[in-house]
Amino acid sequence: MPLKKEKPVPPKKIIKPVVEKVVEKKEKEKEKEEEEGGGKSSKTFELLRGFRDILPEEQGRWNLVRDTVRSIAESYSFDRIDLPILERSDLFQKTVGKATDIVEKEMYVFTDPSNRSVALRPEATASAARAYISHGMLDRPQPVKMWYVGPMFRHDRPQAGRYRQFYQAGFESFGVDEPIVDAQLIVLGAQIFRELGLDIKVEINSIGTPECRQAYLAELSSYFRPHRNKLSEDDKRRLQKNPLRILDSKEEATLELLQEAPQILDWLDDKSKEHFMKVLEFLEEVEIPYVLNPHLVRGLDYYTHTVFEFVLVQDEGDKSQSALGGGGRYDGLIQLLGGRPTPGCGFALGLERIVRALDAKGVNPPERSKPSVFFAQLGDAARRVGLKLFEEFRRAGVPVVEAFGKSALKGQLEAANKLGVQLTLILGQKEVLDGTIIIRDMESGAQEIMDVKKVVQIVKKKLHTDHPSDVPAVE
Ligand code: AMP
Repeated sequence: MPLKKEKPVPPKKIIKPVVEKVVEKKEKEKEKEEEEGGGKSSKTFELLRGFRDILPEEQGRWNLVRDTVRSIAESYSFDRIDLPILERSDLFQKTVGKATDIVEKEMYVFTDPSNRSVALRPEATASAARAYISHGMLDRPQPVKMWYVGPMFRHDRPQAGRYRQFYQAGFESFGVDEPIVDAQLIVLGAQIFRELGLDIKVEINSIGTPECRQAYLAELSSYFRPHRNKLSEDDKRRLQKNPLRILDSKEEATLELLQEAPQILDWLDDKSKEHFMKVLEFLEEVEIPYVLNPHLVRGLDYYTHTVFEFVLVQDEGDKSQSALGGGGRYDGLIQLLGGRPTPGCGFALGLERIVRALDAKGVNPPERSKPSVFFAQLGDAARRVGLKLFEEFRRAGVPVVEAFGKSALKGQLEAANKLGVQLTLILGQKEVLDGTIIIRDMESGAQEIMDVKKVVQIVKKKLHTDHPSDVPAVE
């Protein structure tokens, strides 16, 4: 049989798909490598991708954020609640929603040793609602106002400002359906940013009740139907499974189509409209500037009525991941979890993003107050006395630093200089035997010998005269 002659194929047609395939393969390999720790076959352990250590030098900013959150929470009478990190996975499937990115793609789900499907929490509102039901909080005076702070987990694609473990501080108010609750939560959030010195804007929208949303979604789907072929695969899927999500698509073609798309605000029933108008009026009353964003829907199924986000106002540079927090009303959530119908509203702030914004502004408070006293020792006997002395200073509220690892006086004085302390206490063999101690003024270099028993009081007095705010007053 004669060999069939192959038709010559234009090289471009063959090469292009091959090149694409190679690029795709390389990208996948790179991603896999990154997932496995940068492809390094190191003997030390790498961090998992999307996870990070918060180092001591970053703790000043973190403390500032945590302290601000706590003090504002307390001043608005929110009570702290600590919720478990691990929950039954169906808690999130049922509330956040099966067709959401979080549940569909990002949740860390596994079977525990008792053969139960569990999940690392991707958010904590569902847990707070579960706690409200399981502890019978409906019988307490309403609203029940709770706040929390802790890590959340989402297996999303990591990038700047987006991690797989990240911290949220959240505020939830259960039991009252009045628009003033929504407004007060927004005011509370705005207050946190004001105190931190961050410039934010509030974006706000209403997605009404599930009933009025139904008619809107039908309209939205039929608006997009003739344009289906212009949509990305992701958006096609959204349109089919969870059409509301198409509103927060980032695809250019979809964004263009969205300009003419029906807007949910036009489909709200009278009660929903009234609720929303009142929230806006309250915000105007307290002069919280807001921007209506008809495309803001938030990605979770449990929201009703008001939804909002706190967005960082940036002059220039990196505008990615500028949402510092968000939330909304969730009137159906408690009932969805089997509780008696109870309204609720809340929001969560992303702490990494807030810390990042503070960093960009050059805010970096010290992790703890700078010590003013250094303790230098020469020999074991001095170390022993020093250990006791250290306790006395601590009890008197005067922080003292030391360099127990160094034994030569020169090295210890260098360390004291580097730390910028005001006084150094020097204890050698002779002083131990005499029951004395040397106090050196680091600025003038002047040294005095004194009774070791009186040193705490004398140091306190010296510090108080020079820097009255640094030390508690001498009794
Ligand atoms: P969400 O309810 O998903 O909008 O989350 C509330 C806030 O948490 C967001 O506005 C972000 O500031 C923060 N956040 C959400 N996901 C992440 C993530 N993967 N990494 C860091 N921060 C996040």
